[in-house]
Amino acid sequence: MRFSGFRVLKEALTGHHGWKPLWRNPEPQPAYDYVIVGGGGGGLSTAYHLAKVFQGKRIAVLEKGWLGSGNIGRNTTIIRSNYLLPGNEPFYEFSMKLWENMEQEFNFNAMVSQRGILNLIHTDGQRDAYRRRGNAMLLAGADAELLDREQVRTMYPWLNFDNARFPIKGGLLQRRAGTARHDGVAWGYARGADLLGVDIIQNCEVTGFRIEAGKVLGVETTRGYIGAKKVGVAVAGSSSRVMQMAGLRLPIESHVLQAFVSEGLKPVVDGVITFGAGHFYVSQSDKGGLVFGGDIDGYNSYAQRGNLPVIEEVAEGGLALMPAIGRARLLRVWGGIMDMSMDGSPIIDRTPVDGLYFNGGWCYGGFKATPASGYCFAHLLATDRPHETARFMRLDRFERGYVIDEKGMGAQPNLH
Ligand SMILES: Cc1cc2nc3c(=O)[nH]c(=O)nc-3n(C[C@H](O)[C@H](O)[C@H](O)COP(=O)(O)OP(=O)(O)OC[C@H]3O[C@@H](n4cnc5c(N)ncnc54)[C@H](O)[C@@H]3O)c2cc1C
Repeated sequence: MRFSGFRVLKEALTGHHGWKPLWRNPEPQPAYDYVIVGGGGGGLSTAYHLAKVFQGKRIAVLEKGWLGSGNIGRNTTIIRSNYLLPGNEPFYEFSMKLWENMEQEFNFNAMVSQRGILNLIHTDGQRDAYRRRGNAMLLAGADAELLDREQVRTMYPWLNFDNARFPIKGGLLQRRAGTARHDGVAWGYARGADLLGVDIIQNCEVTGFRIEAGKVLGVETTRGYIGAKKVGVAVAGSSSRVMQMAGLRLPIESHVLQAFVSEGLKPVVDGVITFGAGHFYVSQSDKGGLVFGGDIDGYNSYAQRGNLPVIEEVAEGGLALMPAIGRARLLRVWGGIMDMSMDGSPIIDRTPVDGLYFNGGWCYGGFKATPASGYCFAHLLATDRPHETARFMRLDRFERGYVIDEKGMGAQPNLH
């Protein structure tokens, strides 16, 4: 079934009886060539690209809950490629280019909206840093514009420009950045993968790995043993727990990140804005809710809900930046488990176990990475070589001293 304007019209006129489920609900087979653990954005995009680009056959995605139950369905939907370091920027720009073509490619409306992201500048030193970052983006083929205070005022006159502590002095704008409907992305990749023959198996938790003589043979699951030639793990916040079952200890901590949505308002924020002096970012959903967030909760956790101190801190950041937000009522708050790596950057690599591959450490930023994360992981699974743009995202980089520390924070996952 293909989606089109004509199809929507036809269904509207005939009582909407012709829509079909987006993917099958198959029983697990005894063995596959590739088993992907985790049916989030990373896992589904991996399966899709493995089948489509690398002609992989006999592929299964095993998801312990339902598709979209993890961070892919919990994030604040921001996509961008405004990074500084050579280990990151080419990868995220590759992802941005995949976003730009994605909906046409898998014929599904994921509401990709290139409405722009503006990182605000509050000090002269920050302007220098953002100018440098903007230049790095341009060198990697991305777009970047440095705006002065008056240009920002033209875009968002209601920001608090004259805050005594955090005056706004300009901003770094990436116009091609924006938002996408997060669960639409999961459904689009799931549908695309299913059409290419991938078995998507929900309610199937991986509970162990069968490893013999240093090689993985398959996975134990709540629906029985499933053999596999290669196993790719993409379980985000559960990375440490799952990889521990294969005897591996990761340079990753799990923390809760919360997100917030206000009641529906008339259009006021037509792009994405980030506060440069605290951790606060905001956009507006198509339904009218202000969607915003800030820092992770300051302790390790596997709970998918956070606590009040961060809610208070995020509200303070919002009020400092746009005092009018104090008049809006908060509608919903939720949390997801973040796989925080020690340098704030992801890992897409082989592991010391033959046939076992790992994708994780996405911290705050794995949603925007969804297309490239899957493409690069599929490349690695199919060819055993890292994709050009992910070649620095190695597991042993901490041991070798080649960290990708975008913020220059050191080994402090709670600060990245
Ligand atoms: C509140 C919040 C806001 C965010 N905002 C943004 C943003 O604006 N932009 C951005 O780029 N990123 C953002 N992120 C980060 C982004 O959502 C994640 O980095 C990204 O979604 C992680 O990859 P994933 O989609 O594969 O993870 P997930 O969707 O979490 O997928 C992992 C899956 O693995 C499954 N799983 C776990 N254990 C097992 C097992 N044993 N067996 C089988 N399956 C298992 C889980 O159920 C889950 O479905 C945000 C995250 C949160 C929580």
